[in-house]
Amino acid sequence: MDYLSSKIYLDYAATTPVDPRVLEVMMPFFSEQFGNPSSVHYYGQLAEAALEDARERIARNLGARSTEIIFTGCGTESDNLAIRGVAMARREATGANCILTTPVEHHAVLHTVEHLVKHQGFKVESLPVDRYGMVEPDEVRRRLTKNTALVSVIYANNEIGTINPVAEIGLICRQHGIPFHSDAVQAAAYLPMQTCPQWSDLISIGAHKMYGPKGAGVLYVRDGTPILPAQTGGGQENGLRAGTQNVPYIIGMAKAFDLSQQEMPELFAPLANWRDEIIQGVIERIPGAQLTGHRQQRLPNHASFVFEGVDGNHLLMMLDAAGFACSSGSACKTGNPKPSDVLLALGLHPQIALGSLRVTIGKPTSGKEIRQFIDALPRMVAAARALAQ
Ligand SMILES: *Cc1c(COP(=O)(O)O)cnc(C)c1O
Repeated sequence: MDYLSSKIYLDYAATTPVDPRVLEVMMPFFSEQFGNPSSVHYYGQLAEAALEDARERIARNLGARSTEIIFTGCGTESDNLAIRGVAMARREATGANCILTTPVEHHAVLHTVEHLVKHQGFKVESLPVDRYGMVEPDEVRRRLTKNTALVSVIYANNEIGTINPVAEIGLICRQHGIPFHSDAVQAAAYLPMQTCPQWSDLISIGAHKMYGPKGAGVLYVRDGTPILPAQTGGGQENGLRAGTQNVPYIIGMAKAFDLSQQEMPELFAPLANWRDEIIQGVIERIPGAQLTGHRQQRLPNHASFVFEGVDGNHLLMMLDAAGFACSSGSACKTGNPKPSDVLLALGLHPQIALGSLRVTIGKPTSGKEIRQFIDALPRMVAAARALAQ
Protein backbone atom coordinates (compact mmCIF):
# COMPACT_ATOMS: atom_id res chain seq x y z
CA MET A 1 0.00 0.00 0.00
CA ASP A 2 2.68 2.43 -1.17
CA TYR A 3 0.24 5.21 -2.01
CA LEU A 4 -0.06 5.89 1.69
CA SER A 5 3.64 6.53 2.18
CA SER A 6 3.99 10.27 1.51
CA LYS A 7 1.49 11.08 4.25
CA ILE A 8 0.84 9.31 7.52
CA TYR A 9 -2.71 7.97 7.74
CA LEU A 10 -3.94 7.55 11.31
CA ASP A 11 -7.69 7.50 10.71
CA TYR A 12 -8.50 3.81 10.18
CA ALA A 13 -11.69 4.15 12.23
CA ALA A 14 -13.03 6.50 9.53
CA THR A 15 -12.22 4.16 6.71
CA THR A 16 -9.58 1.72 5.50
CA PRO A 17 -7.94 1.16 2.11
CA VAL A 18 -9.23 -1.86 0.20
CA ASP A 19 -6.89 -4.81 0.69
CA PRO A 20 -5.38 -5.76 -2.72
CA ARG A 21 -6.56 -9.36 -2.19
CA VAL A 22 -10.10 -8.00 -1.77
CA LEU A 23 -9.90 -5.87 -4.90
CA GLU A 24 -8.68 -8.86 -6.88
CA VAL A 25 -11.71 -11.04 -6.10
CA MET A 26 -14.09 -8.15 -6.85
CA MET A 27 -12.84 -7.41 -10.38
CA PRO A 28 -14.50 -10.21 -12.43
CA PHE A 29 -17.91 -9.18 -11.09
CA PHE A 30 -17.68 -5.80 -12.81
CA SER A 31 -17.07 -7.42 -16.20
CA GLU A 32 -17.48 -11.07 -17.29
CA GLN A 33 -19.66 -12.04 -14.34
CA PHE A 34 -21.93 -8.99 -14.43
CA GLY A 35 -25.25 -10.86 -14.18
CA ASN A 36 -28.19 -9.96 -11.96
CA PRO A 37 -28.43 -12.62 -9.25
CA SER A 38 -32.24 -12.61 -9.61
CA SER A 39 -32.11 -13.55 -13.31
CA VAL A 40 -32.99 -17.12 -14.30
CA HIS A 41 -30.37 -17.57 -17.04
CA TYR A 42 -26.70 -18.51 -17.01
CA TYR A 43 -25.43 -15.01 -16.18
CA GLY A 44 -27.84 -14.74 -13.30
CA GLN A 45 -26.90 -18.15 -12.00
CA LEU A 46 -23.21 -17.29 -11.93
CA ALA A 47 -23.87 -14.09 -9.98
CA GLU A 48 -26.27 -15.85 -7.63
CA ALA A 49 -23.81 -18.64 -6.91
CA ALA A 50 -21.12 -16.09 -6.04
CA LEU A 51 -23.53 -14.08 -3.93
CA GLU A 52 -24.66 -17.15 -1.99
CA ASP A 53 -21.05 -18.22 -1.49
CA ALA A 54 -20.32 -14.77 -0.02
CA ARG A 55 -23.36 -15.11 2.22
CA GLU A 56 -22.23 -18.49 3.50
CA ARG A 57 -18.74 -17.22 4.25
CA ILE A 58 -20.03 -14.22 6.14
CA ALA A 59 -22.44 -16.48 8.03
CA ARG A 60 -19.56 -18.77 8.99
CA ASN A 61 -17.53 -15.86 10.35
CA LEU A 62 -20.55 -14.82 12.41
CA GLY A 63 -21.36 -18.33 13.60
CA ALA A 64 -24.73 -17.85 11.91
CA ARG A 65 -26.88 -19.51 9.23
CA SER A 66 -26.74 -18.05 5.72
CA THR A 67 -30.50 -17.35 5.84
CA GLU A 68 -29.74 -14.93 8.69
CA ILE A 69 -27.42 -12.72 6.60
CA ILE A 70 -28.98 -9.65 4.92
CA PHE A 71 -26.83 -7.61 2.54
CA THR A 72 -27.22 -3.83 2.74
CA GLY A 73 -25.49 -0.79 1.27
CA CYS A 74 -23.44 0.19 4.36
CA GLY A 75 -23.21 0.03 8.13
CA THR A 76 -25.60 2.95 8.43
CA GLU A 77 -28.23 1.11 6.41
CA SER A 78 -27.82 -1.99 8.56
CA ASP A 79 -28.42 0.10 11.68
CA ASN A 80 -31.48 1.70 10.07
CA LEU A 81 -32.98 -1.63 9.02
CA ALA A 82 -32.39 -3.16 12.45
CA ILE A 83 -33.88 -0.31 14.42
CA ARG A 84 -36.71 0.81 12.15
CA GLY A 85 -37.57 -2.75 11.14
CA VAL A 86 -37.70 -4.22 14.63
CA ALA A 87 -39.31 -1.17 16.28
CA MET A 88 -42.14 -1.25 13.72
CA ALA A 89 -42.64 -5.03 13.88
CA ARG A 90 -42.59 -5.17 17.67
CA ARG A 91 -45.03 -2.29 18.08
CA GLU A 92 -47.38 -3.90 15.57
CA ALA A 93 -47.23 -7.29 17.32
CA THR A 94 -47.12 -6.28 20.99
CA GLY A 95 -47.71 -2.53 21.30
CA ALA A 96 -44.23 -2.06 22.77
CA ASN A 97 -42.98 1.35 21.65
CA CYS A 98 -39.90 2.22 23.69
CA ILE A 99 -36.34 1.93 22.36
CA LEU A 100 -33.67 1.46 24.99
CA THR A 101 -30.26 2.69 23.84
CA THR A 102 -27.16 4.62 24.92
CA PRO A 103 -25.86 8.18 24.55
CA VAL A 104 -22.65 6.85 22.95
CA GLU A 105 -24.13 5.38 19.78
CA HIS A 106 -22.95 6.28 16.29
CA HIS A 107 -25.24 8.79 14.56
CA ALA A 108 -26.54 5.95 12.38
CA VAL A 109 -28.29 4.60 15.49
CA LEU A 110 -28.80 7.84 17.44
CA HIS A 111 -30.40 9.81 14.61
CA THR A 112 -32.51 6.84 13.52
CA VAL A 113 -33.94 6.53 17.02
CA GLU A 114 -34.49 10.31 17.17
CA HIS A 115 -36.32 10.14 13.85
CA LEU A 116 -38.61 7.38 15.12
CA VAL A 117 -39.35 9.44 18.23
CA LYS A 118 -40.03 12.64 16.33
CA HIS A 119 -42.02 11.24 13.41
CA GLN A 120 -43.34 7.78 14.35
CA GLY A 121 -44.49 8.15 17.93
CA PHE A 122 -41.83 5.97 19.54
CA LYS A 123 -40.24 6.69 22.91
CA VAL A 124 -36.59 6.46 23.80
CA GLU A 125 -34.93 5.64 27.08
CA SER A 126 -31.24 6.35 27.46
CA LEU A 127 -28.97 4.02 29.43
CA PRO A 128 -26.38 5.64 31.66
CA VAL A 129 -22.70 5.14 30.78
CA ASP A 130 -19.71 5.43 33.10
CA ARG A 131 -16.81 7.83 32.53
CA TYR A 132 -15.31 5.40 30.02
CA GLY A 133 -18.52 5.28 27.98
CA MET A 134 -19.36 1.78 29.14
CA VAL A 135 -22.84 0.41 29.83
CA GLU A 136 -23.42 -1.58 33.01
CA PRO A 137 -25.49 -4.73 32.21
CA ASP A 138 -27.54 -4.36 35.40
CA GLU A 139 -28.71 -0.95 34.21
CA VAL A 140 -30.22 -2.68 31.19
CA ARG A 141 -31.94 -5.31 33.35
CA ARG A 142 -33.41 -2.57 35.55
CA ARG A 143 -34.95 -0.74 32.60
CA LEU A 144 -36.53 -3.56 30.60
CA THR A 145 -40.33 -3.43 30.64
CA LYS A 146 -43.22 -4.84 28.63
CA ASN A 147 -43.04 -1.61 26.67
CA THR A 148 -39.42 -2.15 25.50
CA ALA A 149 -39.53 -2.77 21.74
CA LEU A 150 -35.80 -3.31 21.37
CA VAL A 151 -32.42 -2.60 22.93
CA SER A 152 -29.45 -1.25 20.95
CA VAL A 153 -25.94 -0.96 22.42
CA ILE A 154 -22.80 -0.26 20.40
CA TYR A 155 -20.21 -3.07 20.55
CA ALA A 156 -16.99 -1.03 20.16
CA ASN A 157 -17.19 2.75 20.11
CA ASN A 158 -15.92 4.62 17.07
CA GLU A 159 -15.03 7.81 18.95
CA ILE A 160 -13.51 6.50 22.16
CA GLY A 161 -12.72 2.85 21.38
CA THR A 162 -14.49 1.44 24.46
CA ILE A 163 -15.76 -2.13 24.15
CA ASN A 164 -19.11 -2.77 25.83
CA PRO A 165 -20.07 -5.98 27.65
CA VAL A 166 -22.55 -6.72 24.86
CA ALA A 167 -22.66 -10.49 25.46
CA GLU A 168 -23.89 -9.97 29.03
CA ILE A 169 -26.33 -7.29 27.95
CA GLY A 170 -27.64 -9.43 25.11
CA LEU A 171 -28.25 -12.42 27.39
CA ILE A 172 -30.27 -10.25 29.76
CA CYS A 173 -32.41 -9.08 26.83
CA ARG A 174 -32.86 -12.67 25.67
CA GLN A 175 -34.05 -13.75 29.12
CA HIS A 176 -36.73 -11.08 28.81
CA GLY A 177 -37.61 -11.94 25.19
CA ILE A 178 -36.60 -8.51 23.93
CA PRO A 179 -34.62 -8.19 20.66
CA PHE A 180 -31.05 -6.94 21.09
CA HIS A 181 -29.17 -5.09 18.37
CA SER A 182 -25.50 -4.19 18.45
CA ASP A 183 -23.62 -1.92 16.06
CA ALA A 184 -20.44 -3.91 15.44
CA VAL A 185 -19.12 -1.82 12.55
CA GLN A 186 -15.90 -0.98 14.43
CA ALA A 187 -15.66 -4.33 16.20
CA ALA A 188 -15.82 -6.63 13.17
CA ALA A 189 -12.26 -5.93 12.00
CA TYR A 190 -10.56 -6.47 15.35
CA LEU A 191 -12.69 -8.63 17.64
CA PRO A 192 -13.84 -12.25 17.26
CA MET A 193 -17.41 -12.34 15.95
CA GLN A 194 -18.25 -16.06 15.90
CA THR A 195 -20.28 -15.99 19.12
CA CYS A 196 -22.65 -13.18 18.11
CA PRO A 197 -25.75 -15.41 17.67
CA GLN A 198 -25.35 -16.65 21.24
CA TRP A 199 -26.14 -13.20 22.63
CA SER A 200 -27.53 -10.97 19.89
CA ASP A 201 -30.51 -10.90 17.55
CA LEU A 202 -29.17 -8.24 15.20
CA ILE A 203 -25.60 -7.22 14.34
CA SER A 204 -24.55 -4.43 11.96
CA ILE A 205 -21.29 -4.62 9.99
CA GLY A 206 -19.84 -2.40 7.27
CA ALA A 207 -17.21 -3.44 4.72
CA HIS A 208 -15.10 -0.30 4.50
CA LYS A 209 -13.98 -0.34 8.15
CA MET A 210 -12.34 -3.75 7.60
CA TYR A 211 -10.34 -3.25 4.38
CA GLY A 212 -13.35 -3.86 2.13
CA PRO A 213 -15.08 -1.45 -0.26
CA LYS A 214 -17.35 1.45 0.68
CA GLY A 215 -20.96 0.73 -0.21
CA ALA A 216 -21.57 -2.72 1.30
CA GLY A 217 -22.85 -3.81 4.69
CA VAL A 218 -24.40 -6.74 6.51
CA LEU A 219 -27.22 -7.04 8.94
CA TYR A 220 -27.31 -10.32 10.83
CA VAL A 221 -30.93 -11.09 11.75
CA ARG A 222 -31.39 -14.09 13.99
CA ASP A 223 -34.09 -16.48 12.77
CA GLY A 224 -37.44 -15.61 14.33
CA THR A 225 -36.62 -11.95 15.08
CA PRO A 226 -39.66 -9.77 14.35
CA ILE A 227 -38.62 -7.31 11.64
CA LEU A 228 -40.22 -5.34 8.80
CA PRO A 229 -38.34 -4.07 5.74
CA ALA A 230 -37.13 -0.47 5.77
CA GLN A 231 -36.99 -0.45 1.98
CA THR A 232 -39.60 -2.13 -0.25
CA GLY A 233 -39.56 -3.37 -3.83
CA GLY A 234 -38.40 -6.75 -5.14
CA GLY A 235 -38.07 -9.79 -2.90
CA GLN A 236 -34.30 -9.72 -2.49
CA GLU A 237 -32.65 -10.44 0.86
CA ASN A 238 -35.57 -12.37 2.35
CA GLY A 239 -37.89 -9.48 1.50
CA LEU A 240 -36.03 -7.29 3.98
CA ARG A 241 -33.90 -5.22 1.60
CA ALA A 242 -35.31 -4.73 -1.86
CA GLY A 243 -32.97 -3.79 -4.68
CA THR A 244 -30.49 -5.63 -6.88
CA GLN A 245 -27.54 -6.65 -4.75
CA ASN A 246 -24.19 -4.93 -5.25
CA VAL A 247 -22.52 -8.18 -6.24
CA PRO A 248 -18.86 -7.08 -6.65
CA TYR A 249 -18.83 -5.16 -3.38
CA ILE A 250 -20.52 -7.98 -1.50
CA ILE A 251 -17.95 -10.47 -2.84
CA GLY A 252 -15.25 -8.05 -1.68
CA MET A 253 -16.86 -7.66 1.73
CA ALA A 254 -16.96 -11.43 2.25
CA LYS A 255 -13.24 -11.65 1.41
CA ALA A 256 -12.45 -8.70 3.67
CA PHE A 257 -14.34 -10.23 6.58
CA ASP A 258 -12.64 -13.61 6.00
CA LEU A 259 -9.23 -11.95 6.05
CA SER A 260 -9.98 -9.80 9.11
CA GLN A 261 -11.21 -12.72 11.14
CA GLN A 262 -8.35 -15.01 10.00
CA GLU A 263 -5.57 -12.49 10.53
CA MET A 264 -6.88 -10.92 13.70
CA PRO A 265 -5.14 -13.30 16.11
CA GLU A 266 -1.71 -12.23 14.78
CA LEU A 267 -2.69 -8.63 14.26
CA PHE A 268 -4.22 -7.93 17.64
CA ALA A 269 -1.17 -7.94 19.92
CA PRO A 270 1.13 -5.81 17.71
CA LEU A 271 -1.63 -3.26 17.15
CA ALA A 272 -2.43 -3.14 20.86
CA ASN A 273 1.27 -2.62 21.65
CA TRP A 274 1.49 0.31 19.28
CA ARG A 275 -1.76 1.70 20.61
CA ASP A 276 -0.28 1.56 24.11
CA GLU A 277 2.89 3.26 22.88
CA ILE A 278 0.79 6.10 21.48
CA ILE A 279 -1.25 6.42 24.66
CA GLN A 280 1.80 6.35 26.90
CA GLY A 281 3.79 8.73 24.68
CA VAL A 282 1.00 11.27 24.50
CA ILE A 283 0.12 11.20 28.18
CA GLU A 284 3.79 11.42 29.24
CA ARG A 285 4.84 14.15 26.86
CA ILE A 286 1.83 16.42 26.75
CA PRO A 287 0.69 18.20 29.91
CA GLY A 288 -3.09 18.47 30.21
CA ALA A 289 -3.65 15.43 27.96
CA GLN A 290 -6.28 12.94 29.00
CA LEU A 291 -7.20 9.56 27.50
CA THR A 292 -10.88 9.19 26.56
CA GLY A 293 -12.53 5.79 26.71
CA HIS A 294 -11.45 2.74 28.65
CA ARG A 295 -7.74 2.06 29.18
CA GLN A 296 -7.90 -1.74 28.64
CA GLN A 297 -11.38 -2.53 27.33
CA ARG A 298 -10.79 -0.75 24.04
CA LEU A 299 -10.18 -1.52 20.38
CA PRO A 300 -6.56 -2.58 19.77
CA ASN A 301 -6.09 0.06 17.05
CA HIS A 302 -7.72 2.99 18.83
CA ALA A 303 -6.30 5.84 20.93
CA SER A 304 -8.32 8.96 21.75
CA PHE A 305 -7.61 12.01 23.84
CA VAL A 306 -8.74 15.43 24.93
CA PHE A 307 -6.28 18.30 25.41
CA GLU A 308 -7.05 21.15 27.72
CA GLY A 309 -6.99 24.58 26.06
CA VAL A 310 -7.01 23.24 22.49
CA ASP A 311 -9.50 23.64 19.66
CA GLY A 312 -9.62 20.14 18.16
CA ASN A 313 -10.21 21.50 14.66
CA HIS A 314 -7.11 23.71 14.85
CA LEU A 315 -5.09 20.72 15.95
CA LEU A 316 -6.42 18.56 13.11
CA MET A 317 -5.56 21.21 10.53
CA MET A 318 -2.04 21.61 11.90
CA LEU A 319 -1.53 17.86 11.92
CA ASP A 320 -2.83 17.67 8.36
CA ALA A 321 -0.43 20.39 7.23
CA ALA A 322 2.40 18.39 8.82
CA GLY A 323 1.31 15.24 6.96
CA PHE A 324 -0.66 13.42 9.67
CA ALA A 325 -4.28 12.43 8.92
CA CYS A 326 -6.16 12.12 12.22
CA SER A 327 -9.69 12.82 13.39
CA SER A 328 -11.45 14.60 16.21
CA GLY A 329 -13.49 11.43 16.59
CA SER A 330 -16.82 13.01 15.82
CA ALA A 331 -18.40 14.67 12.82
CA CYS A 332 -18.00 18.20 14.14
CA LYS A 333 -17.43 20.71 11.38
CA THR A 334 -15.11 23.69 11.36
CA GLY A 335 -16.95 26.95 11.91
CA ASN A 336 -19.60 25.32 14.07
CA PRO A 337 -17.71 23.97 17.05
CA LYS A 338 -20.03 21.78 19.08
CA PRO A 339 -18.66 19.30 21.57
CA SER A 340 -19.33 15.66 20.75
CA ASP A 341 -22.36 14.13 22.45
CA VAL A 342 -20.31 11.03 23.20
CA LEU A 343 -17.62 13.01 25.05
CA LEU A 344 -20.27 14.97 26.97
CA ALA A 345 -21.89 11.66 27.97
CA LEU A 346 -18.60 10.71 29.66
CA GLY A 347 -19.04 13.76 31.87
CA LEU A 348 -16.34 15.88 30.24
CA HIS A 349 -16.64 19.66 30.42
CA PRO A 350 -17.82 21.01 27.03
CA GLN A 351 -14.75 23.22 26.72
CA ILE A 352 -12.42 20.25 27.23
CA ALA A 353 -14.49 18.04 24.92
CA LEU A 354 -13.79 20.52 22.10
CA GLY A 355 -10.11 19.59 22.27
CA SER A 356 -10.49 16.00 21.13
CA LEU A 357 -8.18 13.90 18.97
CA ARG A 358 -8.65 10.36 17.68
CA VAL A 359 -5.68 8.36 16.44
CA THR A 360 -6.53 5.01 14.85
CA ILE A 361 -3.96 2.70 13.33
CA GLY A 362 -4.33 -0.19 10.88
CA LYS A 363 -2.65 -3.02 9.02
CA PRO A 364 -0.36 -0.77 6.95
CA THR A 365 0.78 1.35 9.94
CA SER A 366 4.50 1.09 10.78
CA GLY A 367 6.38 1.66 14.01
CA LYS A 368 8.29 4.46 12.31
CA GLU A 369 5.07 6.31 11.52
CA ILE A 370 3.98 6.01 15.11
CA ARG A 371 7.29 7.36 16.43
CA GLN A 372 7.10 10.28 13.99
CA PHE A 373 3.62 11.03 15.20
CA ILE A 374 4.51 10.87 18.90
CA ASP A 375 7.51 13.13 18.25
CA ALA A 376 5.48 15.70 16.33
CA LEU A 377 2.34 15.89 18.44
CA PRO A 378 3.66 17.87 21.45
CA ARG A 379 4.70 20.74 19.14
CA MET A 380 1.33 20.68 17.40
CA VAL A 381 -0.59 20.75 20.67
CA ALA A 382 1.57 23.62 21.94
CA ALA A 383 0.92 25.56 18.73
CA ALA A 384 -2.83 24.86 18.90
CA ARG A 385 -2.81 26.07 22.51
CA ALA A 386 -1.04 29.28 21.54
CA LEU A 387 -3.67 29.83 18.85
CA ALA A 388 -6.52 29.39 21.32
CA GLN A 389 -5.13 31.99 23.75
C1 LIG B 1 -18.59 3.88 10.35
C2 LIG B 1 -19.60 3.46 11.34
C3 LIG B 1 -20.96 3.34 11.00
C4 LIG B 1 -21.46 3.69 9.63
O1 LIG B 1 -21.01 2.79 8.66
P1 LIG B 1 -21.02 3.22 7.11
O2 LIG B 1 -20.68 1.92 6.43
O3 LIG B 1 -19.96 4.27 6.95
O4 LIG B 1 -22.37 3.70 6.80
C5 LIG B 1 -21.83 2.93 11.97
N1 LIG B 1 -21.42 2.64 13.21
C6 LIG B 1 -20.14 2.73 13.58
C7 LIG B 1 -19.74 2.35 14.95
C8 LIG B 1 -19.17 3.15 12.66
O5 LIG B 1 -17.91 3.25 13.02
